[in-house]
Amino acid sequence: MHRSGFTDSRQSDCGLGVEDAFHFLFKCPAHFANRSHLFSEIPEILSDGVKPYAVPMSVMFVLSPGRYDNFMHEQCEAIFNATFKYIQPSERSL
Ligand SMILES: [Zn+2]
Repeated sequence: MHRSGFTDSRQSDCGLGVEDAFHFLFKCPAHFANRSHLFSEIPEILSDGVKPYAVPMSVMFVLSPGRYDNFMHEQCEAIFNATFKYIQPSERSL
């Protein structure tokens, strides 16, 4: 079985809402363990060594960080890789 995309508006398997990108990335309890890993990785990528970066709950931030803020190219790439690791086990495509 292969799931793809967020174009349909079906309910998430968790029963707590529509399975859109925002729900998948930030809300769905089915991906809780994976998500806590992702959101501990991103602040490390963006930390200036002094204070941790507060990660916004924004779909654009995790999917196209370069459009969201003035991050360095390496940081954008690292964020995207971390996000990909989050998406990959769920067999989705964006
Ligand atoms: Zn869900």
